[in-house]
Amino acid sequence: MVKTVLPGEVVPISRPGGDDPADAVLRLLMAYQRRLPGEHPERCSACAAPHLRKIAAAMATGREIQLVLPAFPAKSPNRAKTLSHLPDMAERVALEFLQSVCDRVERVYPPGARFVICSDGRVFGDLIGVPDSDVTAYRTELLAMIDRIGAERLDVFDLDDVHLGFDDHSAMREHLVTHYAEPLESVRAEVKAGGQALSIYRGMTRFLFEDQLGPDYEGSRAAALREARRRAYGVIQRSRAWGALLAERFTDAVRLSIHPQPCGAEKLGVLLMETADTWLTPWHGVAVMVDGRPELAKRADAERLGATLVRRGGRPSHYVLSRLTG
Ligand SMILES: [Zn+2]
Repeated sequence: MVKTVLPGEVVPISRPGGDDPADAVLRLLMAYQRRLPGEHPERCSACAAPHLRKIAAAMATGREIQLVLPAFPAKSPNRAKTLSHLPDMAERVALEFLQSVCDRVERVYPPGARFVICSDGRVFGDLIGVPDSDVTAYRTELLAMIDRIGAERLDVFDLDDVHLGFDDHSAMREHLVTHYAEPLESVRAEVKAGGQALSIYRGMTRFLFEDQLGPDYEGSRAAALREARRRAYGVIQRSRAWGALLAERFTDAVRLSIHPQPCGAEKLGVLLMETADTWLTPWHGVAVMVDGRPELAKRADAERLGATLVRRGGRPSHYVLSRLTG
């Protein structure tokens, strides 16, 4: 019997090993919680609380549990990291992992759970050096891949879905910023004040800097760094605006993030793969099958290690490396 949860009601966290079904579902998700080193205990009840309420509310009405995950924006344009602008084995491994999490939830709670992958490439493609045509191609292939692998519990939602039948991507971004973003000046002020905003800004700057320095880049490193610093504010501003739009649209959903979150945050940081907690995402790297197990690496690192490129369907897909035979 699942207890109905009223909005704002505080639901006690059950004891570890307790048989509360909502807790059992959350345990499956939290098994893949992405934690900052040393920040949370293994099963942190402060981190569990906001999500347990939403899971229990969905289960009380027999609904499918909705899991909103901003991820899979577009491939990094730096071909020293990635193979092409399209999803490849790296995405496939992550999608299969997400579906497998849903399969496990279904065993505990038959109506199950669904990931809504909120692809945010359209939101800031112009700032990260990815043309809109590449964002579209990435999304199209991601949907085809989900279909091919039969990942029935995965949906994709992006800015195009907010403006169906409309194809002016710049206007979509303007609309998002006008209606959902805070002013750039306030993002700058927050970063300047230090703390979490500053560390997010630094991480973003590093990604933007690296992504510009692909094999075809001709400018100086200093110019790339200046440009990355300038663009990082815009990426943060638009990511947050996208988050605000998602919160409005998916009010009952469990909010997930691919980044580690502070303790008790409204979003739960989760891993995208069973394997090691890495800062690399599928769209910033390539899959390397090491003795049959998938790992993520930058393309140049895989090649440096002597990994062999594998093609699938006429396109580069992933690398294979054997540590056993050297
Ligand atoms: Zn915590």
